[in-house]
Amino acid sequence: MAAMASNADRVFSDELVNRLTDANEYSLKGMIRGLTLPPTAPLPALSSCSAASLGQLDSLPVELMHMVLVLLDVQSLVRLSQVARAAKVAVDGLPAYEDLRQHIPDVLVALGRTRMLHCHSVACLQDALRASPPRCASCLVSFGGFLFLPTCERVCFDCLCENRALRMTTPALARECFRLSASQLAAGVPVLHTIPGSYSVRWHKHHPKVHKLVSVRQAKAHAAVVHGSAQAVAALLPATKPASWSLRKYYLLQSFHEAPLGPAGRDLTLLPEQDNTAPDGFGGVASIRMPYVGKAGKADRGRCCNGCRILEKLDADGGLPENVKTRLVPPGVPASKPLKALGTRLYTEGKFVQHIRECYGVTRLLSLWDDGVKDPYGLE
Ligand SMILES: [Zn+2]
Ligand SMILES: [Zn+2]
Repeated sequence: MAAMASNADRVFSDELVNRLTDANEYSLKGMIRGLTLPPTAPLPALSSCSAASLGQLDSLPVELMHMVLVLLDVQSLVRLSQVARAAKVAVDGLPAYEDLRQHIPDVLVALGRTRMLHCHSVACLQDALRASPPRCASCLVSFGGFLFLPTCERVCFDCLCENRALRMTTPALARECFRLSASQLAAGVPVLHTIPGSYSVRWHKHHPKVHKLVSVRQAKAHAAVVHGSAQAVAALLPATKPASWSLRKYYLLQSFHEAPLGPAGRDLTLLPEQDNTAPDGFGGVASIRMPYVGKAGKADRGRCCNGCRILEKLDADGGLPENVKTRLVPPGVPASKPLKALGTRLYTEGKFVQHIRECYGVTRLLSLWDDGVKDPYGLE
């Protein structure tokens, strides 16, 4: 194969950057999406009998009142705005809440529909929106382009696929897995009500009905509190499969026990596939796209690279040079997993331009485009 020019010195116009961006992102559309947004700001109108005063809060300077209000969860904030005219004025004028309504109205609707609006403060949501860098709380490497609703953390698509701590399960299974009574589980773990629809994060599943689910990581963390230690929780998993359990159930509960409570701290797509991977029936039901808003106030949803999308196909056709493959795929790992993952990875704007200067797939695409081949891999 002839050597191709490097991208490093190439001028990437906005048009070229857009052409190298995956405009469709089909693989990322298996989460909460397409929600109907309220026609105006989600604050309900005041009733005519609303009181005029906020009581003791009225005496606080505006800045202090804002510091107090952002500690409320969104549900409490909306309720507060309904009890007094002064409260509605204060809530309407709360910059942090305006930030959320302007940039992530769909996330607020998703939190409402999943009945998790009471779980996170306005400050927590704004911190996630404006976290700098906006990295995934699991791998700590990639842009976390999604919000995991139970914990209000940014996560990336790869970690949603690979990290067992980001799975959801039924309260019954969580209780059985971690030996918790119904009241013990309810005391420490919020319940998410799913929004009916089709979801797809690694595994596809249609959910026509509402499921009540809990986060595996939150259930495991709470079990450590109830049972006294992480070691006590680990001892709850039978060493061998009980006769009454299916192999799938044993693998599933084993995977819940293996869920890390802290950040994985690395790119999980670079690890070999584990033998006991049980399909996730609820992938995507607890996550939604989350833009990043930096100091300039512009929302950045991230971009996927069209060059990376061709890597898996190049490899399948024998067209991926060995030195490139060695750089992208660790020994002992099937190439398809990390290569597929690169095609679904989101980059914030600055990082994307940095990436396409170094991306081998982009080099290949540009070479073909320069030769007049319009859409060699059917990307457009
Ligand atoms: Zn991640
Ligand atoms: Zn790329």
